[in-house]
Amino acid sequence: MRISELFHSIQGEGHLTGKPMFFIRAQGCAVKCPIREVCDQPESLGFKGGTEYSPVELAELALQAVGPRGWVCLTGGEPAEHEDFDRVVAECRRRDLHINIQTSGMRRVNAPWDWCTVSPKGLVDELAMDFAQELKIVYTGQSAEVLRDYYERFSAWNYYLQPCWSGSGSNQQETLAMVYELNRLGLRFEFTAQWHKLLGVH
Ligand code: SF4
Repeated sequence: MRISELFHSIQGEGHLTGKPMFFIRAQGCAVKCPIREVCDQPESLGFKGGTEYSPVELAELALQAVGPRGWVCLTGGEPAEHEDFDRVVAECRRRDLHINIQTSGMRRVNAPWDWCTVSPKGLVDELAMDFAQELKIVYTGQSAEVLRDYYERFSAWNYYLQPCWSGSGSNQQETLAMVYELNRLGLRFEFTAQWHKLLGVH
């Protein structure tokens, strides 16, 4: 599998915030993504860069970093676009590691995850997935009606709205205001920041 970077840190977003994890960042993303221009991982988007690792190598590196029953985060880029994605998950699982998948939801993921985070990069009708433990939407000014659609038609245990970062900073005040508005409408969204950025950790 072509890898953009490997590192050990804490999960900085969503429900698993604070959990130590080994991050496997896949190289390449072919998603027609509405926020591609402000994607916070621009170096992982092309398919030419990165380094090739076998699924066994990745699982062994993860195990060395986090120990038995630790967490691995498969992220990108778009990890689900990789042929070896299922094998990486299988090798991690064989070593009794917990698996968090971060995906755009534009492809159906069948690999057995422990926790799947869908950060949708299309309207709810365009998604290939319809269930995850958490739906984490980057807020770029979507209307309450659009966000209601996700809430009512995508099945998740947790719904998050996350500020979008660009060159001029983040829209956290607008995001917070929309979270309050959605809750007023009975839509139980929560706010998540990218806490690792605020803390200054990788
Ligand atoms: S889908 Fe994710 S990795 Fe791909 S461009 Fe969008 S934000 Fe970046």
